[in-house]
Amino acid sequence: MTQSIGGCKCGQVQYKIAGPTLQVVACHCGLCRSMTGAPFSSYVVVREEHFSVASENETLAAYTVTERTRRHFCVTCGTPIFNSNPHTYRGLAMVYLGTLEGHENLVPGISIFCESKLPWVSIDASGKSFPSAPTRAA
Ligand SMILES: [Zn+2]
Ligand SMILES: [Zn+2]
Repeated sequence: MTQSIGGCKCGQVQYKIAGPTLQVVACHCGLCRSMTGAPFSSYVVVREEHFSVASENETLAAYTVTERTRRHFCVTCGTPIFNSNPHTYRGLAMVYLGTLEGHENLVPGISIFCESKLPWVSIDASGKSFPSAPTRAA
């Protein structure tokens, strides 16, 4: 049984993952860059039913980024917590790596949308990389 916890910078949003990590992903798409401000985003993929959020005073908000993607974040400190995509990745939560306790020990197993990667970012060659989105099973 795997159990992990995490949360936002100010501590008002906290979550628990009671299940296995399905994948650790580094995403180099332009959408991730524009919604995080970072050169790429990294997140762990878990089953939605294993992911539960406790937040005080409704501090967890969601923004519809595209018709497929919703980004969930803390309204007080702005930390992105997770993304959901009920169309392409139904039943999954993409939880931002840096919010997870113990994330120092996690290495992305796959890098996706590498065709839009910034030229100065290098990818760990031990994982798989895909020019765009991999199939769901990957
Ligand atoms: Zn916060
Ligand atoms: Zn992306």
